[in-house]
Amino acid sequence: MSDNGQQEKLKAIPAMDIILNSDWVKSWLESLGRIRVKRIINQELSLTRQKILHDDEFIFSFDSFKDSCLSSFAYSLSPSLQRVINAAGVIIHTNLGRSLIAHEAIKSMSEIASSYSNLEYDLKAGSRGQRNSHIEDLLCALTGAESALVVNNNAGAVLLALSALAKNFDVIVSRGELVEIGGSFRIPDIMQLSGANLIETGTTNRTHLFDYERAITENTRMLLKVHPSNFRIEGFTTAPERKELAKLAHEKNLIFMEDAGSGLILNPEIINLPANCGEISIKSCLEQGADLVTFSGDKILGGPQIGGIVGKKKLIDSLKKYPLARALRVDKVTLAGFESTMRLYSRGLYDEIPTLKMLRLSPEVLKSRADLLAEKLSQKINADIHVIEIEDAAGGGSCPEIKLSGYGVAIKHKNFSAGYIQKLLRGLEIPILCGARDDEIVLHVRTLQEGDDEIIIKSLEGVINV
Ligand SMILES: *Cc1c(COP(=O)(O)O)cnc(C)c1O
Repeated sequence: MSDNGQQEKLKAIPAMDIILNSDWVKSWLESLGRIRVKRIINQELSLTRQKILHDDEFIFSFDSFKDSCLSSFAYSLSPSLQRVINAAGVIIHTNLGRSLIAHEAIKSMSEIASSYSNLEYDLKAGSRGQRNSHIEDLLCALTGAESALVVNNNAGAVLLALSALAKNFDVIVSRGELVEIGGSFRIPDIMQLSGANLIETGTTNRTHLFDYERAITENTRMLLKVHPSNFRIEGFTTAPERKELAKLAHEKNLIFMEDAGSGLILNPEIINLPANCGEISIKSCLEQGADLVTFSGDKILGGPQIGGIVGKKKLIDSLKKYPLARALRVDKVTLAGFESTMRLYSRGLYDEIPTLKMLRLSPEVLKSRADLLAEKLSQKINADIHVIEIEDAAGGGSCPEIKLSGYGVAIKHKNFSAGYIQKLLRGLEIPILCGARDDEIVLHVRTLQEGDDEIIIKSLEGVINV
């Protein structure tokens, strides 16, 4: 195509001023503001120019340009971060916000957010207080630790501990534990950032106590054990017992730190996980000799996003004083939610914590929920609907090899493929994420929340009964 043809087509595109003064734009100027409206129109204009320049078949139509602008306006009006329904059966879904926060915790978050608080004020003494004081006793009581500190997240907790305690010194880690979590937390990278030297020891599948022993030099400051949260190496494997590592570290005057990741407060059996699930409580880590343990707040612990560090008072005291602690400090709303979640643990109210409740749901309960949902769906939807046994997962890098037996509702449509229905469900006002197998979609009931059934039924009616 000649340049002339393109020039003609480009000229057909209306100018910004004319578009901005059009009737169909007026109401959007009010609801979105002039700056955002202009940005959207600019994006649409440049998209149109690109099409003219690169697609010879493209014919500019004002009506379709207008439609495209209108749908972008409408899209920009709704918040970007929005609620979704998790019918995928993964409880601590990393991409869907990990743990849900307990109602009681939300209540205190809301109260602390909207009022002044004693965040850093000691009401008894009438003087300055510490934000960490609100959770320290609770965390110590629940984990048996001498001292505790919370920061923004677990990556921050590990970074803080390494920087404050081992900068310019050697930290020994087994080659089987040089993990990457969620694509952005990588032990070698965090180590480098902290200024500590990573000394790898052993092999990917087998690391012995003597591997650690041989790696220790005068420059060694710490032995670090990292929980392989999201994977397991199977077969011919070995790693020294935690107690042995602790003994070795203490004989050599080193710190033994464990990055536990998931933040298990209770013993695994209490939350329906087999004792051999590979997860171990923070309390047990400390009992077996760890000087410091780091963990996330929003994985299996079931609270808001924090990073916890518990252990020896002397070590925690130096972390508290280290300037990075200030940069990683937790905000008051999160702190309120975390304290409230800890209090639920203290009172034994485990089923008030959504993550724990979902883990503890029995197959019988799940089956009756699935039966009920299937029955309600059958009355409204024209498709093949049946209840099936399925496997759910804890997710969030906790017990990757443990499958939780669950139930789901499978829906097969005679014309629509499962992938197509999944796509339609993702595009709804309240998007629904579900599984699929054998070209039928599968709604896992374990991760559905109160009221989700009704939304799912209405949505599927709209999507399928067309
Ligand atoms: C999840 C995890 C992290 C990262 O924790 P965030 O809270 O996401 O920062 C670090 N280490 C281990 C072992 C983990 O499982």
